[in-house]
Amino acid sequence: MSVVMGPTHAMSGAAVGLAVAQLLPEEWGGVNTVQEAFLYAGLTAGAALLPDLDSPSATVSRSFGPFTQALSHTVENTAQGFVNLTKARKDPKCRNGHRTLTHTIWFALAAGAGATALISAFGKPAVIGLLFIFLGLAIRGLFPEWSKKTDWLIVAALSAALAYGAWYFIPASSFGLVMGSAVTVGCVTHMLGDLATKQGIPVFAPLLQFGRKRWWKLKLPNFLSITASGPADKVLLTLFTASVLVQTYLVATGDYTELMMALLNK
Ligand SMILES: [Zn+2]
Repeated sequence: MSVVMGPTHAMSGAAVGLAVAQLLPEEWGGVNTVQEAFLYAGLTAGAALLPDLDSPSATVSRSFGPFTQALSHTVENTAQGFVNLTKARKDPKCRNGHRTLTHTIWFALAAGAGATALISAFGKPAVIGLLFIFLGLAIRGLFPEWSKKTDWLIVAALSAALAYGAWYFIPASSFGLVMGSAVTVGCVTHMLGDLATKQGIPVFAPLLQFGRKRWWKLKLPNFLSITASGPADKVLLTLFTASVLVQTYLVATGDYTELMMALLNK
């Protein structure tokens, strides 16, 4: 179930985003300022919910009320149709598109490429627009109980306020590939989270055929897999939250860059 995993997905996205932001190559423009590091993490946190837009019942699909609900139905139907169109003989007929097309590595790459193209074409307005959307997803993901009782317009207003604030704090330069990559990083983080659950996901479908199946699911060995919202899920959420807090402190104080430099120079 994706619903209960929401907070873990969003928090792991933020944790991975903060770390990756420190490691991005200079040639890509890099993440140079504290503000850019948080912007990057905001994007990864939201993108870490994106694949579950294929489930109309998921919390994340209620992020922007009727808009994301309609989008989610379209995504689910498209994914289902796509699986049935591309399935091999041994693949069972797909009756629900959840955990299929949007849970492949190709989707993660395409989403990042799409974001990069948007940002390259429109610059800062595209970054802030994407931030608005992804913050909406992240807020839903992080606080499912609260946001369930709250009108979606309030969540939207909150993301709009944060994105509006970001407009003034973020330098106009160094976007494009760097910020676009946040979307792929977020989606991949989501996939790793789903991989850890018992059902697994079709990471390489439909390109890599295996045992006469194209939509075979990659899974972790049973003893490693966790039950969503079970104790392991709670432990992971706690670890990611702690990691986000420590990294936020390191980024804000500027110690993160020094720490990385020290590690890389050894
Ligand atoms: Zn998922």
